[in-house]
Amino acid sequence: MDCLFCKIISGEIPSKKVYEDESVYAFYDINPMAPVHVLIVPKQHLSSMNDITAENSAVVSHIFEVAAQLARELGIAEDGYRVVSNCGAAAGQTVFHLHFHLLGGKKLGLNMA
Ligand code: 5GP
Ligand code: ZN
Repeated sequence: MDCLFCKIISGEIPSKKVYEDESVYAFYDINPMAPVHVLIVPKQHLSSMNDITAENSAVVSHIFEVAAQLARELGIAEDGYRVVSNCGAAAGQTVFHLHFHLLGGKKLGLNMA
């Protein structure tokens, strides 16, 4: 499949890995919008939030558990941070493999970062 994040997960395209387990991969965004900007993705290819179902949604709660852990490890848990998923072109989604942005390290505005 011609998917950028599937290629990052498989290692075909390099990335700065922050965390990995059997179902989740996390790496630094190539164009950070905040001092801490990590992308957390399911290893299973889901195109967007529109693909989340009762059968596959366990990985989403796991992603939020990983986000909270990474926020602590990256030192943004106390000051505050944001977890965002853009679903569809009108929301600004540019990579159609489900991902959650973890943003922090500055006072965040009303836009994504
Ligand atoms: P979206 O706009 O779909 O919500 O977010 C896609 C994110 O992927 C953007 O923040 C963009 O900077 C990031 N991105 C795009 N291509 C690459 C890449 O090759 N490597 C990494 N690490 N991030 C990427
Ligand atoms: Zn993919």
